[in-house]
Amino acid sequence: MPTGQLLTPEVWARRHRGIIWLLWLHVGGVTVFALARGKGLAHAVAEVSPMAAFAVAAALPGLGRRARSAAAVLGLVTASAVIVHLSGGVVEAHFHFFVMIGVITLYQDWLPFGLALGYVVIHHSLLGVLVPTGVFNHAAALRSPWKWALIHGAFVLAASVAYLVNWRLSERQAIEINRLVSRLEGLARTDPLTGVPNRRVLEEELPRELERARRMGTGVCLAMIDLDNFKAYNDRHGHQAGDLVLKEAASAWRAEVRSTDLLARYGGEEFVLLLPACALDDAIRIVERLRLVTPLVTCSVGLARWDFQEASEALVERADQALYAAKAGGRNRHVLAS
Ligand code: GH3
Ligand code: MG
Ligand code: MG
Repeated sequence: MPTGQLLTPEVWARRHRGIIWLLWLHVGGVTVFALARGKGLAHAVAEVSPMAAFAVAAALPGLGRRARSAAAVLGLVTASAVIVHLSGGVVEAHFHFFVMIGVITLYQDWLPFGLALGYVVIHHSLLGVLVPTGVFNHAAALRSPWKWALIHGAFVLAASVAYLVNWRLSERQAIEINRLVSRLEGLARTDPLTGVPNRRVLEEELPRELERARRMGTGVCLAMIDLDNFKAYNDRHGHQAGDLVLKEAASAWRAEVRSTDLLARYGGEEFVLLLPACALDDAIRIVERLRLVTPLVTCSVGLARWDFQEASEALVERADQALYAAKAGGRNRHVLAS
């Protein structure tokens, strides 16, 4: 069974607006139909006024989403009942019910759906017995209205089941697609080897973080970390052993930083550590701690403090220059960017 009520507020509001429009069109159309059937204006207005009342209630912002859906649905099935009644119970006029049930499933919610179904069954049974000519126009039904009310009810039920299956399948598909999209989003943002965010995340987050820091007036530091002589390590121990070092280094470093810091794999054996709301002294302490916990190999770090002016690319570039200086200075150290 579909769970229902999965529509986002925006989608619900759009559909609801369309359905209220449809209801108002019915108010106008049924008035014209009543006049064309030879009813007086007062009669025509009396026929459509319950529909108009439901349309007004459906648009009241003070009512909740379900109450407003229910009002719109009751308006639509009332339109069906009035059309059948005005036509003198003509069989073809009943088709209107089926169309409305299809429209009502757009809400993808049990309450309006159940209301519509209950309305059709009760309307047919009650009126079929009390005023058979208001619902039916053939002899067999006029003779045994209960039997024909049940036959109509059965068809409406069958149509509802068909719509329901449709609804359920599309709901399942939507859930499946949502799941896939969030999985793909995760994959697109994560480095598969180390499990840390990738360069794409850094490039998204860094400008945002700098903007936030500008507003709050808090310092931001950025460290570029590169494993030392890693090519030689690979050559000596093999690529798989090298992969393991990358993985373990990433998880050792991650354990040393705060959850609000961002450690991202920049590429190859280079990582970037973004430290928001962090003073330079604290940043130095942190990168020194990272250097100490690096497993099996050493690393060099270029550390830059944002100057509250430069673009994110310039900040990365300065950290990179400092990293070069750390390499040139003998590796296994940090160097502050100028
Ligand atoms: P330096 O100290 O100057 O940084 O020397 P290096 O050897 O670390 O630097 P270089 O740029 O010459 O080589 C980087 C090496 O990192 C070469 C490459 O094989 C290795 N590497 C990059 N990505 C991976 C990876 O995903 N797995 C493994 N095992 N090695 C990688
Ligand atoms: Mg290296
Ligand atoms: Mg490198």
